[in-house]
Amino acid sequence: MNRFSRIFQPIVAISKSANITNKDFMSKSQRLMLELGIIHQAIPGCFHFLPMGLRSINKIMNIVDEEMHKIGGQKIMFPTLVKAELWEKSGRENEMRPELIVLKDRHNQKYLLGPTHEETASNLIASLAPTSYKKYPLLLYQITSKFRDEMKPRFGLIRAREFLMKDMYSFDITSESALNTYNSICDSYDRVFQRIGVDFIKVQGDSGAMGGNFSHEYHYISNIGDDKILICLNCQYSTNVELIHEDKCPKCGETNNIHIKNAIEVGHTFLLGEKYSKPLQANYLDEQSKPQVLQMGSYGIGISRILGAALECLSLETELRWPDSIAPYHVVIIPPKKGSKQALQMQNLDEKLYRNLESHIPNLRNDITIDDRIELTIGRRILDCKRTGIRYLIVLNELSLKTPPIFEINDTVTGEQFNFSENELYAFFSDKEFAKQGAVL
Ligand SMILES: [Zn+2]
Repeated sequence: MNRFSRIFQPIVAISKSANITNKDFMSKSQRLMLELGIIHQAIPGCFHFLPMGLRSINKIMNIVDEEMHKIGGQKIMFPTLVKAELWEKSGRENEMRPELIVLKDRHNQKYLLGPTHEETASNLIASLAPTSYKKYPLLLYQITSKFRDEMKPRFGLIRAREFLMKDMYSFDITSESALNTYNSICDSYDRVFQRIGVDFIKVQGDSGAMGGNFSHEYHYISNIGDDKILICLNCQYSTNVELIHEDKCPKCGETNNIHIKNAIEVGHTFLLGEKYSKPLQANYLDEQSKPQVLQMGSYGIGISRILGAALECLSLETELRWPDSIAPYHVVIIPPKKGSKQALQMQNLDEKLYRNLESHIPNLRNDITIDDRIELTIGRRILDCKRTGIRYLIVLNELSLKTPPIFEINDTVTGEQFNFSENELYAFFSDKEFAKQGAVL
């Protein structure tokens, strides 16, 4: 059973929080996550994910894994250390130099900590004997820590130096087939972001240092975002303003009915062609058994950035708000204060309710916790749970001692309060989206 008293969630006043020196780079989500023990800063731009934060990260990864699996993605893991020589071959070593974390081993071999792995993926294919055209398309992905030497790490998980990213690489034998693969992966990205449930916008992208044929970006609208997105209200077209040079819709020419909004990029897809596969010699064998260059795509989702950006979009100034799909817990049961008259009569009603909820709503399994810090008042515990962003609070009080018992439930998002019989309580939860979705964790 999950019990609040056993959860490592150090709630601190931000002024006392270690290692935070520059408050200018602090965003709302970062402050709340640090104050409420979701993450803890290790060094600037690098964070410990504490249990509450990691529960959420695991749920994001689960959604991504399920959607990648549906389109034939195969999960693998590349090493984090990448031979710098590979990046010299692709020509990116100079281009991205300031952002690369470069190191040498005892033999004076130069490596970098991978910020992305187009070269690694191409090199994996190139280092095998070329395989038959029949083996393609091939979709390989991983979810691992990536590294970028940010000049100014800021906004917590939103611009970190070490971050969790899902990166996928597709290999096809023709450009037509590569485009089909690209479109199917874009569809799966749409589903990932729909399931997470934060409003997102998909725009034609700026390929930047990645190069290649074209790209799409997925954004959460937020005033702390680094990207600027043009949204045309006339024809509904939207694009990254880096692709255009005046405040005018590139599709219909509209100049008045447009919005320019700041946004946080949470996903990016690239159709790369032969940009990496050619210099790194990632080949396949055609029908005549002749080696030919593979057509590539690469596809990123910022796993840890989604957590920070979703909380940035949804949270209040003093309370975290999570999308239901990735909330660390859905329900907390709050028993009465120790020594109160009700506490004496309550016996183990909290544990009984916990087990009954789990058995009636299978998708709540492991998503309930008991706030057993009974030395604290109910009010104080309600406050902590609300600030942490646990959506449904069940407060055990004199009503729950009746026969049959009545349960007081508070929805901290809508502010609604209900008094439910046990069956009404089950019906209430079975109607929720998380109860209908596939189980996570
Ligand atoms: Zn337009």
